[in-house]
Amino acid sequence: MGSADNGDIQSVLLSEAQIASRLDEMAAQIDADYAGKDLLLVGVLKGAVMVMADLSRRIQHSEAAMDWMAVSSYGSGTKSSGVVRILKDLDADLTGRNVLIVEDIIDSGLTLSWLISNLRSRGPASVEVAALLRKPTAAKVEVDVRYIGFDIPNEFVVGFGLDYAEKFRTLPFVGTLAPHVYSS
Ligand code: 5GP
Repeated sequence: MGSADNGDIQSVLLSEAQIASRLDEMAAQIDADYAGKDLLLVGVLKGAVMVMADLSRRIQHSEAAMDWMAVSSYGSGTKSSGVVRILKDLDADLTGRNVLIVEDIIDSGLTLSWLISNLRSRGPASVEVAALLRKPTAAKVEVDVRYIGFDIPNEFVVGFGLDYAEKFRTLPFVGTLAPHVYSS
């Protein structure tokens, strides 16, 4: 299990099986909602890579396209400020497209609300959001998220694409870190 066996992980919040079964449900809902419509999945690098891979392969919609964006949020420490810079823009023209943003986690929601308005300004037919995880703090910002995997407590989590100092992204589950990781 990657680096999970060396004591860095305090607890597994969501197992690989729990995530897989929830992604099955989300994909079925997305298929029902986008039947007969164009669908462009937009992943936000790097955290959304695993959600994008595991969600998109469950989607039956045979003409769904995928594109990627990389953004950086300016903020102090681990808090995001809502000031966002595009590091890599989409290749796709969004005019008339049904865009579904695929996210790993919504914390303050500031990055996401900036992203939604940025993509809406490009003339798409629709912009919706699918996120694997949502923290209670997300309620402070009005972000309409159509597909949510799990509402989780306000704890820092890693795995399934989420990192701590670029580590732990490759873990196949979502977990919390042992305190010694932060102090080392
Ligand atoms: P926000 O919603 O605050 O604008 O920022 C969301 C981003 O903050 C996520 O895409 C992720 O990169 C990071 N983030 C928020 N909460 C966590 C967490 O619990 N663990 C990790 N690894 N990253 C988080």
